[in-house]
Amino acid sequence: MNGVSSDILVVGAGPTGLTAALELARLGMVPTVIDRREGPSGLSRAVGIIPPSMDILAPSGAARAIRDEAVVIGQAQFHAGRFRFASLTLDHGEGAQLLALPQDRTEHHLRVALERYGGRVDYGQALEELTERPDHVEVRINGEARRFGHVIGADGVGSRVRAAMGVGFEGYDLPETWSIADVEAPGWREPENFQGFFGRQGRTVIVIPLAATRFRLISNTPDALATLPVPMEVERVYRAGTFRISVRQVTAYATARVFLAGDAAHCHSPVGGRGMNLGIADAGDLAARFASGGLAGYHAARHAEGRRVIELSERARKALMQGGALRRGMFYGLMAVMMSLPIQRRLAGQVLDV
Ligand SMILES: Cc1cc2nc3c(=O)[nH]c(=O)nc-3n(C[C@H](O)[C@H](O)[C@H](O)COP(=O)(O)OP(=O)(O)OC[C@H]3O[C@@H](n4cnc5c(N)ncnc54)[C@H](O)[C@@H]3O)c2cc1C
Repeated sequence: MNGVSSDILVVGAGPTGLTAALELARLGMVPTVIDRREGPSGLSRAVGIIPPSMDILAPSGAARAIRDEAVVIGQAQFHAGRFRFASLTLDHGEGAQLLALPQDRTEHHLRVALERYGGRVDYGQALEELTERPDHVEVRINGEARRFGHVIGADGVGSRVRAAMGVGFEGYDLPETWSIADVEAPGWREPENFQGFFGRQGRTVIVIPLAATRFRLISNTPDALATLPVPMEVERVYRAGTFRISVRQVTAYATARVFLAGDAAHCHSPVGGRGMNLGIADAGDLAARFASGGLAGYHAARHAEGRRVIELSERARKALMQGGALRRGMFYGLMAVMMSLPIQRRLAGQVLDV
């Protein structure tokens, strides 16, 4: 443990906080985990799980449980309106696959694994205040003063821990309203493929499998279903709504005793599907540093990786959603040519981050 106290508080039981807690517990440091929600979330937010996340979750057995339930995405298919201009094979066998599973199910498997290692989530517990002292951290949870050796802030994009640390969250807000719809559509074409539909003025809809006959639509317009340029017979809409996107990253991931991970440290558009995966990677890295030392290097390592992923996601968003017809046409042509070349595996590697 290199002198690190094991009285660690994890604030937030989303995928980041659960991964941090699970990995700490697996490495022999069962932390206190609190979440202000009254119970587990039922929201399906993040869907895509990439191989590096599965590698982090393999030793605890969580990866196996996730894999057993997830859909393996066969291909990414890209359409200009109704016309398909490119496809990319994403299924290159176990270890090089994109998996799709609603976030609430991923969180369920993380919680089950955490409990196997003697941990649990204390729901209905909100962190209200945090003050860092030289040899401990003072917090107030539901009005009660408590002390911990270290605190991990995995409390999402509106992080209370980040606010208490007083670190900057620099970036910008995208102007457009995005939409999401989770639907039951048993007749949907090619149900195991990720499908992107690009239209005029950069209007885009992405369809991602959630289960055999359940799909997620995401669009950079206020109505994903109305923007889809091909017919989809929807039997049931589980959830539909709009959201706004910010592209931001903290200036400091850590002070001496307080660490930020996941959306508390960074946020970006869902293009590329990396938000949850980046949080899982922050959490895995941080837990390993608690176990083997190197906490001082956490900020540099994760800030650089966060920057890389945000830039990747922003480049993809701008390229795929650009408005000008000529530039869009040229980009689609380039994608079609590249995906017809024998470099499919390398291109898939960029999507899968392997
Ligand atoms: C529509 C949509 C689609 C997305 N699709 C993808 C995708 O395909 N792939 C992907 O990788 N990512 C995706 N994301 C992003 C992904 O959902 C987030 O990156 C992920 O949830 C971040 O996890 P987290 O654990 O860091 O934060 P969160 O999931 O936000 O969890 C934070 C937790 O902290 C708790 N909390 C907050 N404040 C306090 C407090 N003061 N005290 C105690 N508890 C507190 C909250 O209740 C919450 O449970 C998507 C997001 C959206 C909105």
